Amino acid sequence: MSGAHFAFTDRWGGVSAAPYEELNLGGAVGDDPGAVRTNRELAAKALGLDPARVVWMNQVHGADVAVVDEPWGDRPVPEVDAVVTARRGLALAVLTADCVPVLLADPVAGVAAAAHAGRPGLVAGVVPAAVRAMVALGAEPGRIVARTGPAVCGWCYEVPETMRAEVAAVEPAAYAETRRGTPAVDVSAGVHAQLDRLGVRDRARSPVCTLESEDHFSYRRDRTTGRLAGYVWLD
Ligand SMILES: [Zn+2]
Repeated sequence: MSGAHFAFTDRWGGVSAAPYEELNLGGAVGDDPGAVRTNRELAAKALGLDPARVVWMNQVHGADVAVVDEPWGDRPVPEVDAVVTARRGLALAVLTADCVPVLLADPVAGVAAAAHAGRPGLVAGVVPAAVRAMVALGAEPGRIVARTGPAVCGWCYEVPETMRAEVAAVEPAAYAETRRGTPAVDVSAGVHAQLDRLGVRDRARSPVCTLESEDHFSYRRDRTTGRLAGYVWLD
């Protein structure tokens, strides 16, 4: 059985200038494209990956999934929030700065997925959609290993009361309160509840809150900032 690999970046070790310092991996946040390209090369090399074999998405807070078996090359990068592959050695990447990066792999079937789950993606069901796409390629939920990365926590993600109610109506586990007792949403908790219902038991959640960590990009804290990446691949 070949191994599954999961990795989440922090903001250090790249070449971007403020306010994207240092390892901004997002190409649509206003940073110098040359710096982003260098950062993607640095991150890939640190992980032992060929930067040309990393598949990125054009994320739009939806629930569409793309099945890929090679890099996009000259084709347009599709507007999806999950990518799934049955190709070993092909790395899938997801960009975040508070949203939940979700990495999934069934090492036996050789099927992997990366998904971007913010509040809209949680409600739209992007993670269940990614799992269904994996199952269609031969994965079994009981064998899927799931890792979620640094994201804004339920104590920090304050929302209007009506918004919390809308999210909790779809996913009760996401209901949260800030430390001040105001309405909040815990997207990571919601994602893990969705995975649990699908039969994905081997799960781990990063303890890092992006908004509270000086080592991570946070959109809610800084607005104009970089993007972290999560990578998954099978060898
Ligand atoms: Zn927090």
